Amino acid sequence: MHYFDIVVVGAGLAGSTAARVVAEKGKKVLVVEQHRHIAGHCHDAKNEAGITIHTYGPHIFHTNNKKVWDFVQQFSDFNCYQHHVLSYAEGRFIPFPIHVDTINEIFGTHIPASEVSNFLAEQVQSSKFTNPPRTFRDAIVAQVGEKLYELFFENYTRKQWGRDPSLLSAEVAARIPVRANRDGRYFSDPYQGIPSRGYTAMVQAMLEHPNISVLLGANWFELKNGLNAPLTIFTGELDKFFDFKHGKLEYRSLKLVLKTFNKEHYQSASVINYPNDYDWTRITEYKYFLDEQSPHTTVCFEYPKPEGEPYYIVMTKENIARREHYMREVETLEKTGRWLFLGRLAEYKYYNMDQVIAAALQKVGTI
Ligand SMILES: Cc1cc2nc3c(=O)[nH]c(=O)nc-3n(C[C@H](O)[C@H](O)[C@H](O)COP(=O)(O)OP(=O)(O)OC[C@H]3O[C@@H](n4cnc5c(N)ncnc54)[C@H](O)[C@@H]3O)c2cc1C
Repeated sequence: MHYFDIVVVGAGLAGSTAARVVAEKGKKVLVVEQHRHIAGHCHDAKNEAGITIHTYGPHIFHTNNKKVWDFVQQFSDFNCYQHHVLSYAEGRFIPFPIHVDTINEIFGTHIPASEVSNFLAEQVQSSKFTNPPRTFRDAIVAQVGEKLYELFFENYTRKQWGRDPSLLSAEVAARIPVRANRDGRYFSDPYQGIPSRGYTAMVQAMLEHPNISVLLGANWFELKNGLNAPLTIFTGELDKFFDFKHGKLEYRSLKLVLKTFNKEHYQSASVINYPNDYDWTRITEYKYFLDEQSPHTTVCFEYPKPEGEPYYIVMTKENIARREHYMREVETLEKTGRWLFLGRLAEYKYYNMDQVIAAALQKVGTI
């Protein structure tokens, strides 16, 4: 076995960003990835119809962090895709997230954007919830009131998380954008887009460096005794690393069902949410992301499920408490200078892609 200064466990965005940064500082890096592909959850590939499919569900890059934006630009061009989502409610396709058009459509009003805040404040005032909010339900009702909560969030959350929204932490709701303006885009960050040749090609370019070696299809837990690099950067599952000694951290998984149709388009937006109808939570039509031209189209139906590939962390009190126990152990290990824990699995934290990159740049920046 060659000598490596650093072993990186996982070739997702966390691992690949970390590997690239340290490789540029002259360190010899081995990246060990259990799957037979790089890019982790951002992996994408063209299907037989020539449409780029995001293997683990739709990924849209958006950030307000200029440093992160500059970092990714080194490895890929981005198109100017701006994400718009519709939500199927009361038999209609309604613009989502909530903004002035959503309100006028649902309440049959004609208010201008300048009145959205007052309108929502009235909705909130006439609703019942605990203040300050303690649960997901309270956190949403405190922002938009009971009617919009029931229409767009209540059942969607039940499907997505398999639990009553009153059992989920208020922090989950912090991710839900609500707009008091005319901006109907799903994200309002100044930098948005999709890598022109896809995420896998972008990550491939990150890993293309003379100091980086990549080992695919290799589970680090089975190799670790033979690897004695001075530093290991771990981006795999936190509880597994510690042999589940503080209990299992729960994840929500997804069943993704792809269907290809012999027509140009299936739906009028890239993503349509189904909060109240059907068993799927949303349908994604992939060709919109890169504006791919084809007489065919491929769509993905998402069905949340409790077991399988770890997709989303589950923010219950029990999981948050277990995470605390593990993170105390992480702190001790990191102090030795021989370990770093990074990314959505290793920190058991909901990270967007840009946040993972920012965390990696910050954590390995001092090595
Ligand atoms: C359905 C879905 C949609 C999303 N949409 C967006 C979006 O639109 N925009 C956005 O910014 N973010 C989105 N995200 C979040 C985004 O996927 C993550 O921020 C990002 O992929 C996390 O990167 P990571 O490297 O931390 O984790 P991962 O991508 O999971 O990478 C970890 C890697 O480590 C490997 N690994 C684990 N254990 C081992 C082991 N023992 N040995 C070897 N390898 C191992 C795994 O196989 C994996 O490849 C979405 C997430 C999901 C689930």
